Amino acid sequence: MRDQIILACTECKNRNYHTNKNKKNDPDRLEFKKYCKHCKKTTVHKETK
Ligand SMILES: [Zn+2]
Repeated sequence: MRDQIILACTECKNRNYHTNKNKKNDPDRLEFKKYCKHCKKTTVHKETK
């Protein structure tokens, strides 16, 4: 079971990244530190729908 998820910057709310996750391995909302080109810095990106 792999589901596509969207990662949104927590500062500007832009949806910058698409990825997949395995719901069995990652039942909770994921958080990644990634570069946001809108904020021009690395920010926390959270899973969103
Ligand atoms: Zn941002």
